[in-house]
Amino acid sequence: MDKYEAVDRLRELAEEMYEAMDEMKQILSEVAPGELERARSYWMAHIDGALENREGWLGGSMISFEDTVNAVEEMDEELCEDCGERLKEDEDGGLYCDCE
Ligand SMILES: [Zn+2]
Repeated sequence: MDKYEAVDRLRELAEEMYEAMDEMKQILSEVAPGELERARSYWMAHIDGALENREGWLGGSMISFEDTVNAVEEMDEELCEDCGERLKEDEDGGLYCDCE
């Protein structure tokens, strides 16, 4: 998977999280509207704030999903001089290739 595929898939998965949250809102609005209001002010706002902050929640997250995706998008892609494949990153940020 290259970084563009990764970003696309990460955004799809975030969308699924928003869709799951929409269903939670529907369920709560049906059975417990008061609980929905409390949830929207707290844990739902935290989840949204940590993802894409669609509702403009103040405070947000120190590092949000958006920050992570932007960092992936801005990553330099370096190619192996021996085989031309994209280099992978290890846990310490060092680059390596499987052909080595
Ligand atoms: Zn290589």
